[in-house]
Amino acid sequence: MPTKNSQSANSLRNIIPAPLEVSDSGGSFNPSQLCSFHIDELYFSLKKEFVEMCAGYRMELHETPENSAQIILKRNAGYSEEEWSANISDMKITLESSDLNGMRYALTALRQMFAIAFNCGAHYAELACGKIHDQPRFGWRGFMLDSARHFQSVETIKGILNVLAAWRINRFHWHLTDNSGWRLELDSVSSLVEDFELDRGSYSKAQVLEVISHATAKGITVIPEFDIPGHSRCIIKKYPNLTCGENPESREICIGSRQARKFIKNILSEIIDLFAENPYIHIGGDEAKTTNWDKCLVCQAAIEEKKFSNSRELEHDFMQEMTRFVVSKGRTPIVWGICSDLTYPPDTIVQCWLDIREPVRVAQNGNKTIYSVHNSLYFDYPAVPSEPHESWMFELSERGVYMTDPHIIWPEKVADSVLGTEACLWTEFVPEWRIFSKIIERLPAYSECAWSQNKNKEWSDFQRRKDNLLAAGLISDL
Ligand SMILES: [Zn+2]
Repeated sequence: MPTKNSQSANSLRNIIPAPLEVSDSGGSFNPSQLCSFHIDELYFSLKKEFVEMCAGYRMELHETPENSAQIILKRNAGYSEEEWSANISDMKITLESSDLNGMRYALTALRQMFAIAFNCGAHYAELACGKIHDQPRFGWRGFMLDSARHFQSVETIKGILNVLAAWRINRFHWHLTDNSGWRLELDSVSSLVEDFELDRGSYSKAQVLEVISHATAKGITVIPEFDIPGHSRCIIKKYPNLTCGENPESREICIGSRQARKFIKNILSEIIDLFAENPYIHIGGDEAKTTNWDKCLVCQAAIEEKKFSNSRELEHDFMQEMTRFVVSKGRTPIVWGICSDLTYPPDTIVQCWLDIREPVRVAQNGNKTIYSVHNSLYFDYPAVPSEPHESWMFELSERGVYMTDPHIIWPEKVADSVLGTEACLWTEFVPEWRIFSKIIERLPAYSECAWSQNKNKEWSDFQRRKDNLLAAGLISDL
């Protein structure tokens, strides 16, 4: 005698990331029965995905005529951005939100409930009745992909975006330039895409627009990164006059050169035009050495003219000029965390990666911050010591990702300044074929860290929910 699907009895409590509030009302909805569905106009773009999801479980779904069982995607103007709810009774499922992303997230939850309910066979599939009300802890839930060191095809990037969307990640930070590779085909620097250290490949403007279009359809904002004034050897090899002493092996732009600054602004303009709808531009600002600047006559003359005392102050002047330029184009600049006491204008977002105290300093300077501290959110770090890695990399377990909290120290000082989190996948040791193995297992834990309130997070309960979704094929099949 078959037993009742034990997971469906608890289907409201199998969701990842953990929702804000869940309440049971008793009874169950049978998704195998004939259902009508109604979708408010705002969500028409999600109709195909919704119908295909239901078809995947062989649900009999009709837009008309009215059947006694219904699934409704309804606009609720009273909800805030990305907020959603699911109200399940024995004959009706009502999903509500005020925007597209809210409804997308309601559908990811419904998909998880369906996957677990149908895992025991359509005949026994049941969804528990009750209500889920949910909204994110952080509005910025990002993922950074390094396409500069190792290259990924557009198809692979679309696959990554699909997986990110399933875990409600809403920012895709695209690291496109570095010492070992330049991946953007631009009119101003077109010859750069021919010279790579690790593997070949570049993105045409049409391909970039294809990625942006795919991300937009998934509710994800794409943020390009052009890393300056360090991490620039690839561009310097082709344009040695950009660096101090025209040394083609240098990694740093000559920040004292007016011509170099003008050239960089031309590139920035073209990137800004290409990412036309994107409100953010990342301009790096990390790990530049002062060695060449300290010896360069041009840089030293600029330091004297501007009455600075050292090369770091000139570097800061360079970054200030570039952030101001981005702002003048109507965009918000993002930079990597500051390793010195120098500051940025308040409209610059600082992505903190160095240590857990960095967000406190950034908050005191009046900047918003994104939390990406390396020992808990750098996905290139090995999950086990046998994975290829550098000696300076920490071991990063799934639990380490799960326990990440941007408010870990002095929450009262950083609460207003932390926009959210961003996991980063650097690719020195991650060729294209290893990408998914580095992210699939970690994204559910990261999703809960970025979305769920601490009071709703519990490691053993997360593992239970993840095991159930794994058993239903949802994590590996995304
Ligand atoms: Zn110089």
